[in-house]
Amino acid sequence: MSDSVSSIGSLLSEGNHLVGGRWVSATKGETIEVINPATQDVLLQVPRGGEKDVDDAVAAASEAFPAWRDTSPAVRANLLYRYAEVVRAHAEEIDRIERLEVGRPSWGPSGLPNQLVYAASLADKVRGETLPTTSPDMLGMTLREPYGVVGSIIPWNTPGPTMMVDLAPAIAAGNTIVIKPAEDAPLTCLYLALLAAEAGIPPGVVNVVTGYGPEAGAALASHPLVRRMSFTGSPETGSKVMEACAKNLVPLHVELGGKSPQIVLRDAPLGKAIPTIVRSITFNTGQVCAAGSRLLVEESLRGELVGALSEAFEKVRVGPWYEEVEMGPLISERQERRVLGYIEGAKDEGAELVTGGHKLSGEKFDRGYFVEPTIFDHVAPAMRIAQEEVFGPVLSVISYRDEEEAVEIANGTRYGLVASIWTSDVGRAVRLARRVEAGQVSINSTWSRGVIGAPFGGYKQSGFGRTMGADSVLEYTQVKSVIVNGEA
Ligand code: ADP
Repeated sequence: MSDSVSSIGSLLSEGNHLVGGRWVSATKGETIEVINPATQDVLLQVPRGGEKDVDDAVAAASEAFPAWRDTSPAVRANLLYRYAEVVRAHAEEIDRIERLEVGRPSWGPSGLPNQLVYAASLADKVRGETLPTTSPDMLGMTLREPYGVVGSIIPWNTPGPTMMVDLAPAIAAGNTIVIKPAEDAPLTCLYLALLAAEAGIPPGVVNVVTGYGPEAGAALASHPLVRRMSFTGSPETGSKVMEACAKNLVPLHVELGGKSPQIVLRDAPLGKAIPTIVRSITFNTGQVCAAGSRLLVEESLRGELVGALSEAFEKVRVGPWYEEVEMGPLISERQERRVLGYIEGAKDEGAELVTGGHKLSGEKFDRGYFVEPTIFDHVAPAMRIAQEEVFGPVLSVISYRDEEEAVEIANGTRYGLVASIWTSDVGRAVRLARRVEAGQVSINSTWSRGVIGAPFGGYKQSGFGRTMGADSVLEYTQVKSVIVNGEA
């Protein structure tokens, strides 16, 4: 598999990031090693960007902005369609890079081209309104205009899709963008930026500055010429980014963590529920904000369901990116320590370990950060394992007696990103869907599955702002009222 590693060097320019259409090193010349979390092999060096690099990128984006804003929306749309085609043509390389840096198995056909097509189709549909006036000689109207330079800070778990969620609507609306990928997995973002240039998107419209969060990330969030921000990551860092934005009065959206409940009722269609519940906590090794990390089950069903899930968890194939597996390693040693810490903590708090709970060992696993898919039963709602985001393949089972208690437990964390309700009773499903505090509720399904353009985002400390929906392009515009006084 070392050929896969060296092939990244042939796709990306070692030690360089993208500023104003040029691939340049960090001004201080320092780099960060990006590793494969399954083997710790070094994949590539990327620049350790800082304040000056961010400043250069924002300057380049500012310079590119007026021409991009004034480009016909139909032309912008066509460039995005072309970008979608280029991304489709390079889907295999994109997938390989993301698999190598995140350590995940292949997920099949990429959703990135469709994300671009969706935004492209909205680029020339941004419109204002005419307004009633007090006199026939007056005209009132609104224009929707782009902000200017927008900043986007991306996490390491799903770098490609998360970058596209910000980039596509932002540039469709006529903004230019500076992206700061995560230090653990910046390569997919760099490659997608390279493909944007290949598609003909003008220099300076898409810029990527790599670096550490407190350096490049903080510099971007506090840059006075950034007019709108978006952040995806942990609540703690999200709060710091908000503080930086508050100083400059810059609007933003934040997409943070989750402790998403899977609420299983007595009459649930278990044949469908069980594989989905397994997948929703082992997908990307549990490293997704929407992971279904809490199983809320009616007490009378608990034993049967936990037994079936335990069997299913034991069958989840775990391994490195080049194998036909369902689950890869965690991203880093730091995350491994964190997940194992939560597992130990759960035992100390009195939760019952049903399956998993260990670091995997053996030739295939020893150099990577592999942890078994894990279930804890008899978890009490107040335990840390039931309250805090683990960001690993750890499912907490909590039982409830009635619907009222289920809702109370489901809503009893600081988070509210997504939730699933499993039942054959439509009335109960709808009632529960209304009462659960979450930005997205799936009935007998999982988040965003099969729905095009479902708005995504959090309630409570899972964040605010919605992405992915038909309004996503409008979110990157500001409204100007124009008043024309034609009175004599
Ligand atoms: P994690 O702890 O899992 O890496 P974070 O929320 O800290 O999650 O990281 C998400 C993104 O935020 C990454 O791109 C990271 O570099 C960036 N980041 C981290 N700290 C800061 C900060 N102080 N200011 C701005 N961005 C930051």
